[in-house]
Amino acid sequence: MLDPAIATAATSSAASDRPSLPSGFDNLEAALKHFYGYETFRPGQKDIIQAALDNRDSLVIMPTGGGKSLCFQLPALLKPGLMVVVSPLIALMQDQVEQLQRNGIAATFLNSSLSGVEARSRQNDLLDGKIKLLYVAPERLLNQNFLPFLDEINESLGLSAFAIDEAHCLSEWGHDFRPEYRQLSQIRQRYPYTPCLALTATATERVREDICQQLQLRDPFINVSSFNRTNLYYEVVPKARGSVNDLLKLVRKQEGGSGIIYCLSRKRVEETAEMLKLNGISALPYHAGLSDKIRAENQRRFIRDDVQVMVATVAFGMGINKPDVRFVIHYDLPRNIEGYYQESGRAGRDNDPARCTLFFNPGDIKRIEWIIDQKVDPQTGDPLEQEQRIARQQLRQVVDYAESSSCRRTIQLGYFGESFTENCGQCDNCVNPPPVEDWTIEAQKFLSCVARCKERFGMAHIIDVLRGSKKQRVKQLGHDELSTHGIGKDKTADQWRLLGRSLLHQNLLTETQDGYPVLQLNEASWTVLRKQRDVFVAIPKRLEEDEPVVSGTRVEIEQLFERLRKLRKQIADEQGVAPYIVFSDSSLRLMAKQRPQDLNAFGKISGVGSHKLEQYGDRFTIAIRQYCEDMGFTTAPETTTAPITPAKTRRPQVTNTHLQTLALFHEGYSPQDISEHRQIKPDTVFNHLALLIEHERILSLEGLLTSESYDEIVQALTAGPASLSLVWERLDKRYEYHDIKLARAFQRQQAKQSDVINF
Ligand code: ADP
Ligand code: ZN
Repeated sequence: MLDPAIATAATSSAASDRPSLPSGFDNLEAALKHFYGYETFRPGQKDIIQAALDNRDSLVIMPTGGGKSLCFQLPALLKPGLMVVVSPLIALMQDQVEQLQRNGIAATFLNSSLSGVEARSRQNDLLDGKIKLLYVAPERLLNQNFLPFLDEINESLGLSAFAIDEAHCLSEWGHDFRPEYRQLSQIRQRYPYTPCLALTATATERVREDICQQLQLRDPFINVSSFNRTNLYYEVVPKARGSVNDLLKLVRKQEGGSGIIYCLSRKRVEETAEMLKLNGISALPYHAGLSDKIRAENQRRFIRDDVQVMVATVAFGMGINKPDVRFVIHYDLPRNIEGYYQESGRAGRDNDPARCTLFFNPGDIKRIEWIIDQKVDPQTGDPLEQEQRIARQQLRQVVDYAESSSCRRTIQLGYFGESFTENCGQCDNCVNPPPVEDWTIEAQKFLSCVARCKERFGMAHIIDVLRGSKKQRVKQLGHDELSTHGIGKDKTADQWRLLGRSLLHQNLLTETQDGYPVLQLNEASWTVLRKQRDVFVAIPKRLEEDEPVVSGTRVEIEQLFERLRKLRKQIADEQGVAPYIVFSDSSLRLMAKQRPQDLNAFGKISGVGSHKLEQYGDRFTIAIRQYCEDMGFTTAPETTTAPITPAKTRRPQVTNTHLQTLALFHEGYSPQDISEHRQIKPDTVFNHLALLIEHERILSLEGLLTSESYDEIVQALTAGPASLSLVWERLDKRYEYHDIKLARAFQRQQAKQSDVINF
């Protein structure tokens, strides 16, 4: 289980910044910006990197998306020699190498997918010292032909470290044991002086100990990060009739963002994918019943953003490294909490906000119980009792999670032994606590009906009796004669079920676990029946109907984001890679917010490293400038909280089209005349004029604005935030937007001149 003490201890023993790094960067942040374009480290990263630079062994435990890769990649770039990365899946290997190469980093992999010629060429590059990171599968590493090759490198160039990714694969206690990982201990014996970094997202104590022992880690630096994924929003919504509409609503809300919808069976996968397609949402199915070829193709199309939604069974997702999944919906109940954490955790690996929704219908419990009952020994046909018991217990925990009215995050993290007791502010129950109603009378009715039925029946029968059912079975048992028969007609069966389940959760009622679930009273039930306590029930909400009000700026950011997303897709297709390899969603969003219009400003966006700046900077800044021109923006957005770049770098330059406008203006044409003459919108003309004023190509407002108007507008401009709409309001809407733009431009020109004079 997670031990927060270790994490804290690890942080407090943080090595302080060294005066200089082996490779000439001033500090680690400078290296981070140079290679990856990021400004700051994620929690834990810096200490781990420092430990690696100090040649220490390390054990790194971080949840999915925490940023493990960077912890060994950056040291590899900063240290002399070659780093060998052991990774179990070819797809993961290729993906990481691809991302590194996009950042201009010399990385390569060797595995069985390569031809002999190709492999030899890569080996030559390695011997020439052209490569800093080599990815290999464990079986390759231990191959008797490969080890002498590695010896050669060790002697000529040196090995900077071994990084063992997905290190839980070497523990039988992990969920993905791979015998070939076991043999990695040989490597330690062969290269006793090469440090070793083990990384995994599996949190249990047992696995952790196993890794340390198997790899004989010496006094390792241990980092255990919190498993709290703060960027994920968790919610549970009731699934009943009409939930198809809720599902569609959720998907549409994402405005094209990628998502995964998990279903329990192949049939449900196919149906749901079909339903989405009929409603105009691009979706593909993924399950074990499809051929390998189709599955690979569907997966590729999802990763490349050719299709928005993947509808899948749990067969989908292992080893998928798509960082920009914006939502994960469980349309059926997951089988256990750990599975739910891992599956929903495939959302938002890029740390951008993402939404995890669980659709819950108590009726699903029966279906999963039925599946559990089918677990039999294939040889003898006997039920696998131990397995069934574990499965039932896990199912109960999931149901508790779904029906709980307390913080979802607290429940999940509690499952991993991590305590979290605050209001998380990022789950449905914290953001919008379910309304609670007093259902004491109904609870008394329900419990007395259980008593009258002699505590020998399940929930469905009790509800039948309460609602006055005339079913054959009710009559045969004589239950239509009971005093509680028909006393609950005022409530629907669903409402009674809600109450019944709530009573179970609050331990005011008991359900037997052996075979047929029978409802029985306990001591607490009697306190309700004796009117010694009240019963409150949390009423689940449907999905909220109200869309948040979208401000003008939001719309602009979304519009530009859409354009940039299209450009990213176009470039990705040209280069045959997934769009996220070009830029992450969060980088695109920053571009849309800050609208960097030249390379200098563009290079400051998080995620734009030196290599990507060179590769893509021009195309993206052109697109952003084009957007600004179309929208008539002459300045960077004023709402941005990011550091404002100096006016000089962010203001568009005077181009040919402005000069044509200027020529006509000097000839005495009015803005209206210029618009007609040039066949461009009046607004565009005013934007041109404003820009020309700012650039001191027009030196007075004569013919554009009277001096009284100018003074009045300047007063409003300086009276508060200077966004156009606010200034317009402040002037009681008596001026046009373009008047304000012209006045603002002139004011800036004047300010610039007085700067010069003061200087
Ligand atoms: P893990 O292997 O732990 O699941 P990754 O190494 O794939 O996580 O990192 C997840 C995402 O976070 C990647 O897109 C990565 O580029 C990004 N990332 C990692 N470190 C940082 C950082 N310091 N700042 C911003 N993004 C980061
Ligand atoms: Zn919460």
